[in-house]
Amino acid sequence: METQLIANTYQFLLNGEWRESASCKTIENLSPSDRKPVGAIQAMTEREANLAVIGAKAAQKDWANFSFSERAELLYAWADQLLEMKEELAETIMKEVGKGYSSAEKEVVRTADFIKYTAEEGKRIHGELINGGSFNAGSANKLAMVQREPLGVVLAISPFNYPVNLSASKIAPALIAGNAVVFKPATQGAISGTLMIKALDKAGLPSGLVNLVTGKGSEVGDYLTTHPSIDLINFTGGTETGEYISKKASMIPVILELGGKDPALVLNDADLEKAAKDIVAGGFSYSGQRCTAIKRVLVTDEVAEALVAKLKTEIEALKVGMPEDDAAVTPLINEKAADFVQHLVDDAVGKGATPLTAIKREGNLVFPVLLDNVTTDMAIAWEEPFGPVLPIIRVENIEEAVTIANESKYGLQASVFTKNTEEAIRISNKLEVGSVQINGKTERGPDHFPFIGVKGSGLGVQGIRKSIESVTREKVTVLNMS
Ligand code: NAP
Repeated sequence: METQLIANTYQFLLNGEWRESASCKTIENLSPSDRKPVGAIQAMTEREANLAVIGAKAAQKDWANFSFSERAELLYAWADQLLEMKEELAETIMKEVGKGYSSAEKEVVRTADFIKYTAEEGKRIHGELINGGSFNAGSANKLAMVQREPLGVVLAISPFNYPVNLSASKIAPALIAGNAVVFKPATQGAISGTLMIKALDKAGLPSGLVNLVTGKGSEVGDYLTTHPSIDLINFTGGTETGEYISKKASMIPVILELGGKDPALVLNDADLEKAAKDIVAGGFSYSGQRCTAIKRVLVTDEVAEALVAKLKTEIEALKVGMPEDDAAVTPLINEKAADFVQHLVDDAVGKGATPLTAIKREGNLVFPVLLDNVTTDMAIAWEEPFGPVLPIIRVENIEEAVTIANESKYGLQASVFTKNTEEAIRISNKLEVGSVQINGKTERGPDHFPFIGVKGSGLGVQGIRKSIESVTREKVTVLNMS
C-alpha cells in the first residue's frame, strides 16, 4: 500500500544526509501479527537510486586508501552501536517481521559478533608471493606479488527474514575489504534495516560509503541491478528473484543465497529422541521462515513410526501465538505466504497425506502441521513452504532417501541422523548440497563456517573469510629481475 507521508516515517541515508524522497511516496509496513502500522519507508525514485550509486562510487576511492585497521575501527564502533540499540532493534524486528522477541534480540547480538569477527578476519587477509621458477627454469627471474583489492561498489539486497543479520553480513565484509555499499533492504524489513544503518551512521560512517535505497524491488530493483557503476550484486532471497536478477545483471558478477528444501535423513540406528528434537527445532523456529529450515524428513520404514510419534509430541509442545509472547510459531510474513502453505497442505491431504496435527489457521497464523505418508507426487515434497509444515516421506532404505534428496532443484543443506559416523560421511559425500550436518539440525553458522548453496540454492560461497574474499579481486604485479 502506498501512502502520502505519515507519522513514523523513516528517511533514507544518501551521501551522509537523512532525506525524504522527491517522489513524496512512502510504503507503509504493517506488522504481520496484528496488521497495525509499524512505520513507513520512502519509495525512492530512480534519480535518487542513481545518486546513491554515484555517491558510493566516489566515497569508495577514499575508503580504499584507509588501512585495514582503520576500517576495522568503524566496524567495531558499528557493533557497539548495534548493541546499544539492541532493545529498539529487537522490538522493531519483532513488530516488522513477526519474529519472537528473544530470537530478534539474538539476531542483533549475533550480528554484532559477526561484525567484530569480520573486522578481525579482515586484518588477516593477505596476498602471496609466487616464484616464477616453480613453473619452469626460464621464468625463474619472475616474482608475482598477488594482492587483494576491493571490487568497488557492492549492491547488497537482503530478504525479510533476517533483516539485520543478512544485511550486515553483506555490508561488513564489503566495508572491511575497502568497498562501498548500496544497500537495498527487503521492503518488509526495511525499517529494521534503516535502524541498523542509523547505528552505522552514529559509528562514524564516512559520507556516501553506505547509501540506503528503499522502495519495492519490483520498482527500483531493475534500475539498480543493471546500473553500470555496480561492481557486484550480493543477493539473498527467493530462487526465482535470484535467477531473474542474475539474468538481468548480465556481466555484473553475482553472489546468490537462495531458497532451500533441506532434508533430514533418519537412519535405523539414529538416536530418535535427539533427531526429533533437532528436526522440530530446525523445522519450526521462526515458523519455518528460514532458508535452512528442515523442510522434509526422509525416514526408513523401520523407524518411521517411532520417529513420527516423537515428532508429534515435540510439535504439540511448540508455543504458537504472537511474537510479543515469544512464541516459536507466529503469524507468517503476509497473507499470501499463509495461503501458499495452506495450498501445499490441502494438495498433500487431497492426494492422501495423513495430517497428524490439527490443520488450523487464524489469519496469517498457520498452526504447525505434521504431514505423514507424503509421496513424491505431492507439491509439498518439492516446494519450499517457508512456513510451519513438516512433510514425512517414508523410504525403504537410505539409498532411496539419498535419491529423493538429490532429486530436489535445491541444494542448500541436509541433516543425517545416525550413530554410524562412517556411514554418515559416506552419505554426506553423495548428497548434492552445500553442507551436511551430522546429528544436528540444518542451520547457517557459526558464521565463520563456509556457507554454500548449490543447484537452485545459490552461487558463490559465504562465511566470514569467504565473504571477504568474495568482495575482492586478486591483482598481480610481476617483478622481472635482471
Ligand atoms: P524475495 O521476495 O526474493 O526478496 C528478496 C529481496 O529481493 C528483497 O529485498 C526484494 O525487495 C528484492 N527484490 C525483489 N524483486 C527484485 C528485483 N526485480 N530486483 C532487485 N531486487 C528485487 O525473498 P524474501 O521473501 O524476502 O525471502 C525469502 C526467500 O529468501 C526464501 O526463498 C528463502 O529461502 C530465501 N533465503 C535464502 C537464504 C540463504 O542464505 N540461502 C537466507 C534467507 C532467505 P522487496 O522486498 O522490495 O520486494
